[in-house]
Amino acid sequence: YPTIDPFSVKNKPLDKETIKKYLNKFGIPTDKPIIAQISRFDKWKDPEGVIKVFELVKREVDCRLVLCGNLATDDPEGQVIYEQVSQKTRNMKDVILILEENNILVNALQSTASVIIQKSLREGFGLTVTEALWKSRPVVASNVGGIPLQIIDGKTGFLLEPNDITGFARKIITILKEPELAQQLGENGQAYVKENFLITRSLLDYLEILEEVFA
Ligand code: UDP
Repeated sequence: YPTIDPFSVKNKPLDKETIKKYLNKFGIPTDKPIIAQISRFDKWKDPEGVIKVFELVKREVDCRLVLCGNLATDDPEGQVIYEQVSQKTRNMKDVILILEENNILVNALQSTASVIIQKSLREGFGLTVTEALWKSRPVVASNVGGIPLQIIDGKTGFLLEPNDITGFARKIITILKEPELAQQLGENGQAYVKENFLITRSLLDYLEILEEVFA
């Protein structure tokens, strides 16, 4: 499985000033809890589903949704999906769409969000989940692809069936209302990534291969 580099711009700890500067620069206020999905605008990342989840959450807890996603250059559908999402959210309060690719912004968002959602309908490994867990964020995500390798339901986050809009909303509301639970999930998530998905693990993999070859 892939690993992430904890010293990269996207994953290293950021000081409060830098976080504030970048959130400001991209017009993201922090006066309300932030729910964020960081993903390409792609139908398999289900941004429209995320908006439905947000509408349900918003009825119970005042919060903001940030959808941050670059457009993959090899994906002609991306622009269409972005425009659909943009159209749908045009009159919605507290929804922020970001199209720019910026590693520090991704880091700042993943470090600040009260909940990271990854509502993929299909997924490869799901590096955004790894990145968010590493930053001790509570993650609510679909039980697809590599996500269940990273999220142990109820321990390092919550896993839902990809189309369970109400289930996603309920778990997010629970996290927003229970800071102690949020903190516990975050701590467990970070420990799990530290053990399994940091580059040090890749190094061990290589050493094991070398040992096998040369022993
Ligand atoms: N990403 C980014 N900016 C964005 C959206 C995504 O830098 O606006 C990064 C994200 O941080 C992660 C990668 O792109 O490192 C996406 O990997 P993932 O495995 O989650 O999904 P993929 O796009 O490969 O299907």
